[in-house]
Amino acid sequence: MTEANMNSALTNLLTAEISGPNVVESRRTVGDLTGYWQDADAALRTATELLYITQSWFPVAEGTEGAILWGNTTLMPGLVGDEYYMTRGHWHEKLDRGELCVTTSGTGLLVLMDQHRITRFEKMTPGSTHYVPGHTAHRTVNTGDEPLVFLCAWPADCGHEYGSILRDGFSRRVCRGFSL
Ligand code: ZN
Repeated sequence: MTEANMNSALTNLLTAEISGPNVVESRRTVGDLTGYWQDADAALRTATELLYITQSWFPVAEGTEGAILWGNTTLMPGLVGDEYYMTRGHWHEKLDRGELCVTTSGTGLLVLMDQHRITRFEKMTPGSTHYVPGHTAHRTVNTGDEPLVFLCAWPADCGHEYGSILRDGFSRRVCRGFSL
């Protein structure tokens, strides 16, 4: 691989780290998810805590029709009040677009909610591979005591819609004592 080759990157399959050109990293704290947590006071007290880091690789621009993007998420272990650390979760703006995820380390849950607000869960463990169908909101939750790390591939033109999750949430939360 050369720096000039924009169409390849390196994914470490043990750590999920992606390196190469056009890899964008972002970090979210507990406070960045203000409004999403059940216990707003607990969230305020821990607002500066690191919640998750993502890396997204853009061999093409977001929005490119027919293209696929690739990235990872490292979701820290922890609780806000009694609620396990989680990602914001989203719908795809193009609702029929799906997504693939594979867990590299840690344990948690993939939370899937359909348009009737029926929520189901899939266990995430190392190697577990998940298909998120279209018309399904999705978020991940770390129920373990180490970082939950996973890779995802998604259509570049899917778009991400967060507002309705902020407003309406998922129909189920994952809190201490949760069992499937
Ligand atoms: Zn998605």
